[in-house]
Amino acid sequence: MRFNSKYKTIVRLIGASLIIIGMTLVITSHLESLNIRPENLYDKAQELMIQFLVGSIIAAVGTALIGFTLTGSKYHETKGSIKIRCPHCGYLESEDALFCSRCGRRL
Ligand SMILES: [Zn+2]
Repeated sequence: MRFNSKYKTIVRLIGASLIIIGMTLVITSHLESLNIRPENLYDKAQELMIQFLVGSIIAAVGTALIGFTLTGSKYHETKGSIKIRCPHCGYLESEDALFCSRCGRRL
């Protein structure tokens, strides 16, 4: 793979950490919401809502980062060499191939 795999691993680790941090924030905000005393309900509910939203956003960013490393490699692969579509089965074969590597028929 031409895509820098070290960079991809780092991005995935960051993404995984963000998901864990985000999920922790979401879960703790949920757990804390069970222990809200009626006298500070409004202040606490607002605080927990923000914590929940921030947690969700962080987890979403983490998911997006991991998704980027997965789709990013595929994108790079197709970008690196010109592909042609097999007229028989529709498989994307590299430009210099004589036969389709999926159905085996001549291109
Ligand atoms: Zn084919």
